[in-house]
Amino acid sequence: MHPLDEEIKEESVFDKLHEECGVFALYGHPEAANLVYLGLYALQHRGQESAGMASSDGRKIHSVRKMGHVADIFTPDVLNELPGELAIGHTRYSTAGDTTIKNAQPLSVACSKGQVAVAHNGNLTNAIELRRELEEDGSIFQSTSDTEVVLHLVARSRERTLAGALRDALLQIEGAFSLVFLAQDRIIVARDPHGFRPLAMGRLELASGGFATVFASETCAFDLINATYVGDVEPGEMVIVGPEGITREHYTTPAAPAHCVFEHVYFSRPDSIVFGKPVAESREKMGRLLAREHPVEADVVVPVPDSGVAAAIGYSAESGIPYRQALIRNHYVGRTFIEPSQAIRDFGVKLKLNPVRHLLEGKRVVLVDDSIVRGTTSRKIVRMVRNAGAREVHLRISCPPTVSPCYYGVDTPVQHELIAHRLNIKEIEEFVEADSLAYLSLDSLRDSVRDTDQRFCYACYTGHYPTLVQIEEIALAKTGCC
Ligand code: AMP
Repeated sequence: MHPLDEEIKEESVFDKLHEECGVFALYGHPEAANLVYLGLYALQHRGQESAGMASSDGRKIHSVRKMGHVADIFTPDVLNELPGELAIGHTRYSTAGDTTIKNAQPLSVACSKGQVAVAHNGNLTNAIELRRELEEDGSIFQSTSDTEVVLHLVARSRERTLAGALRDALLQIEGAFSLVFLAQDRIIVARDPHGFRPLAMGRLELASGGFATVFASETCAFDLINATYVGDVEPGEMVIVGPEGITREHYTTPAAPAHCVFEHVYFSRPDSIVFGKPVAESREKMGRLLAREHPVEADVVVPVPDSGVAAAIGYSAESGIPYRQALIRNHYVGRTFIEPSQAIRDFGVKLKLNPVRHLLEGKRVVLVDDSIVRGTTSRKIVRMVRNAGAREVHLRISCPPTVSPCYYGVDTPVQHELIAHRLNIKEIEEFVEADSLAYLSLDSLRDSVRDTDQRFCYACYTGHYPTLVQIEEIALAKTGCC
């Protein structure tokens, strides 16, 4: 048994189904709720704990929030409860706040600026301090989500218009936020000045002439509804879409850009364009550069599906070693409450992945995955490949070692649970029981996302955070993102 075994809590493979959050907004379509539903469906990979939608019929905001998956929540009856031509939606996995229905989004409030609903992707780094101040001043919070702070700031603002109150609120919050707001007659969206999390803007032509305006965390949500990607909401920008048309303004001066590189490494779907760059292209380049930096004599390149697929294609193309899909993923794994007996070892990973024995037997395998966080899943997969008959297993990771937690909305554990914070690469190689282990270098990762002018955040690999973070308080509050 490896000494780390006793310290690292074994996690269920179901934890790995969770990612961060996805937001979607639409203005100006008679079937708003149906289209937001489809958008959320395409963003399901960004969060599977809860989902919700708020729509406006021009007078009143209607809202539905439930635990579970988009397709299970939004039945035709539920969608009928969401009338109107404008709507916002959210899929959630928490990085801030508990995992309960009261934290599901969109959150809504009725205040002097009318009814307002909000959905958030990101993590506010000064939420604890702001909440303390607001509570000392008499605010009563309904949830433990950092997003609620934004609604309180809006409600308390002395500005008379909603846009003014939002500006007021946005200037007080820090950290990562791509926010979509719904009011009775308008959609307002905003992105933090560093642009940590993505927020794409699109246009949907209407059969009757004219167009609807859409916003989404990822462009794959536009593809499903036949909307065209027109560009990103810029860091520090607020876009208001209402009866008078579209207004774009910078509510603050943009700060140094810090786009989350992990969106390209892992989170986003490969069919999305994120921060203006195709994710599939970045990932394939990561794989190619990984093959150049860390070649190995082998018979097959095998991806850990789905996260390692695009990088493995790149590794295979660059090295000339054939690509084989020798691990098959069951895509329909949901939560299960049937606990298997202790005798069935590695049940979790087996539920999700199954090896193709005849592709692995006697082979020297290059196993490609996007990242190692705690190391426990990686080790199970290495074992699985070896037990299926592989002669050698060489693990290749398409990003640098994850040494520092994320405070901007990625669900990484606290620092001491990060295996690369505690062990060097040789020791991790031993822990995961690979014949060799190598990671992509930071320079090559930069190259892969074509970051020629320092526009990305690499804090999880370097520990250099682009903003001040109240690390201890956040670490204490950290339960899991939005
Ligand atoms: P482990 O070996 O336990 O660290 O797990 C590594 C696996 O977790 C890799 O396959 C990654 O694709 C996946 N992974 C990395 N980061 C996250 C995240 N924030 N949420 C869910 N899965 C992740």
